[in-house]
Amino acid sequence: MDKTNTLTKNTSYGKKRRFKKVLVSLFLLFVLLLQGCADEKPQFQAGEAGQGQAAEVVHNSGELAVHYIDVGQGDATLITCGGSSMLIDAGNNNMGTTVQYYLSKQGITKLNYVVGTHPDADHIGGLDVVLYKFDCETFFMPDIEKDTKTYQEVVDVAGLKRLTISHPEEGDSYALGDASFTILSPSVAEGEQDANNSSIVIRLLYGESSFLFSGDAEAEEEQAILDSGQRLSSTVYKVAHHGSSGANSKPYLDAVSPKYAVISCGKDNSYGHPHKEVLQMLQDRGITTYRTDEQGTIIVYSDGETISFQQEGQKDTGRAENKSMATTQNKSESEEDYILNTNTKKIHLKTCSSVADIHEENRLESKETLTVLMKQGYTPCKRCIGY
Ligand SMILES: [Zn+2]
Ligand SMILES: [Zn+2]
Repeated sequence: MDKTNTLTKNTSYGKKRRFKKVLVSLFLLFVLLLQGCADEKPQFQAGEAGQGQAAEVVHNSGELAVHYIDVGQGDATLITCGGSSMLIDAGNNNMGTTVQYYLSKQGITKLNYVVGTHPDADHIGGLDVVLYKFDCETFFMPDIEKDTKTYQEVVDVAGLKRLTISHPEEGDSYALGDASFTILSPSVAEGEQDANNSSIVIRLLYGESSFLFSGDAEAEEEQAILDSGQRLSSTVYKVAHHGSSGANSKPYLDAVSPKYAVISCGKDNSYGHPHKEVLQMLQDRGITTYRTDEQGTIIVYSDGETISFQQEGQKDTGRAENKSMATTQNKSESEEDYILNTNTKKIHLKTCSSVADIHEENRLESKETLTVLMKQGYTPCKRCIGY
């Protein structure tokens, strides 16, 4: 009798537990579904540039799309054309995963070209994640090195993926689907130390539309391009050096003579980008200007004749995303230290939410590169570093 009783008790307890389990599963499913919805990006506004009116635009996959991805203070531009794709820069160190998710969301698994315009952290910081996560065919960097952990990590991951770093030369042209692009610069002089003035400058052509990407080129490099006599005129100009007045010299801007300009920068960044002199020059020339710090990610579509803009939407200054951007700009051009968990052997960024849970005795700060730490038996945290 006793036995049966216990058994009955157990069974009814088991039933209750199963019921509880089902409830928990249903709740989790509900939470996941909710999260799924929350993860969806806010509706992009479609419309003809400068009009600011919402209009439904249907895009076919064969046409050209240029995505100026909002990475705070930094640059990251994705270009797709008929199944081919190119990424120019990948933002700062803490933006690698953001760029990775953005590319994945566009269905990208392979990149035909990856360009690190110059070895500054706000351009190549996130490239290690991209090079690691995606099948990259050709990797371009200027022939200049930088003695930073960020640069070393990119070189290390390229090595890990058996990817050669190619130095493109002025005048080289490449196909990207039905589009093509030409390297306008640099022709790096022996002993050139200035990273910004070694920026790879690219002019992309698709039908009658053209796009110019200038990296952080400053007046000196702009002058060298002007002197080379290459064609600069472009429909859409990605304003050089986040809108710095040290770049975007008058003769250069006049030679580009764009209809539209896009500035990639972080809200309230410490450099004061974009500089008001540059905004004034754009305004004086009647150039419609878009900014990632105000409109978020900006996508330009071209069918070879007509161009249309989509923007993420006006940014609300009080919102949390701007907080994270303020963090980004402080880190700009600086190096990232890692927090190690000596117990779990995980590498975290300081900003990772898991860091708070690490016991004091297991917590270690490190200035080593990822590759060195991985050789010591550590693995990068999936949440913060992404691989
Ligand atoms: Zn920069
Ligand atoms: Zn730079």
